[in-house]
Amino acid sequence: MSSTQTRQLNRLSNRSILWWRIAQVGVWLVGLTILFFLFYDPEIGIHLFWNILIPVAPALIVVAIGLWRNVCPMATNSLFFRHLGLSKKKKLTMRQSSILNLVAIIALFVVVPLRHGIFDMNGPATGILLLLLAFAAIFMGLTYEWKSGWCSGLCPVHPVEKLYGLNSNLYLPNAHCDSCSRCMVLCPDATPKVNPLSLKKNNFHKLSGFLMVGAFPGFIWGWFQVPDATGIQDFPHLLSLYELPFVGMAVTSLLYFILRRFFNEKLLTAIFSASAVSCYYWYRIPALFGFGMYPGDGMLVDLTSSIPAWSTDLAVALTTLFFFYRIVFRKQTGARWAKRPPYADKLQAA
Ligand code: SF4
Repeated sequence: MSSTQTRQLNRLSNRSILWWRIAQVGVWLVGLTILFFLFYDPEIGIHLFWNILIPVAPALIVVAIGLWRNVCPMATNSLFFRHLGLSKKKKLTMRQSSILNLVAIIALFVVVPLRHGIFDMNGPATGILLLLLAFAAIFMGLTYEWKSGWCSGLCPVHPVEKLYGLNSNLYLPNAHCDSCSRCMVLCPDATPKVNPLSLKKNNFHKLSGFLMVGAFPGFIWGWFQVPDATGIQDFPHLLSLYELPFVGMAVTSLLYFILRRFFNEKLLTAIFSASAVSCYYWYRIPALFGFGMYPGDGMLVDLTSSIPAWSTDLAVALTTLFFFYRIVFRKQTGARWAKRPPYADKLQAA
């Protein structure tokens, strides 16, 4: 194929691919380093993972979802064997894909509350959780075509990507799929204005969309009301980890149910998306610097004797304004998360 044909088909140049591979390997090595610390120096590992990487992730998803999807270390795990040509490249039906998305959301709601009883204080347990996720990602990548099995299927972060990345305008190439084999009916990377309610072809889609848009903001609020504990003492304690997140889910679901009679769906989805990510930083920023509701929980560095308490109030006010501007008020760009690579069948024909 001539270089003109390559350009016409919107394919990445070898030089671009090389730079993306370097970035992917670099971020993957950062992930491996964090995993090492989680087992061998859990205090540092917990800070690196729960108090630096995870707090940065929601903002990164809002402003640069395409970048995150290109370099996410779990995506690299999942797609490594596909790049080597070792995947079975099976295609999921729409129903199977919608079930995977719902399972991902349920996994998110089940695992995240366990942070307060296990993962936030236990480096090796977090490391084992990440290893289990990595094995699941590899298995899905070995079995299903491109991102359909993990990145846009079973990954528990993917529903959050669809909620927070709905007004993206950083339009990058897709640095994983060499060519598009139409592995998904509605590819989240290549569809403009994708959000959790974009696809409503069956009840799994509808339930997933409702849970992420309506229930997720309340889940975040409830999660921050629960204090950390070293280990789960008994069954009532286990239940208490879920109680307030689930109460929050019920409240915002009801609110969403009522408000959707008065607002158009796109606007309401954007408002709930901005509310969810703002709520996260509303609690997370003070906690990182020692001003949290439960001092010491989720703290990166104690600044209580160095800066006034109002400085974190100012920070959360600014982040809230930023997210509402970015997600709700800024003109919808209609950009995709990433450029669709050339279709595999057209490449073959060319
Ligand atoms: S770009 Fe094409 S091949 Fe890649 S995940 Fe989307 S639909 Fe699948």
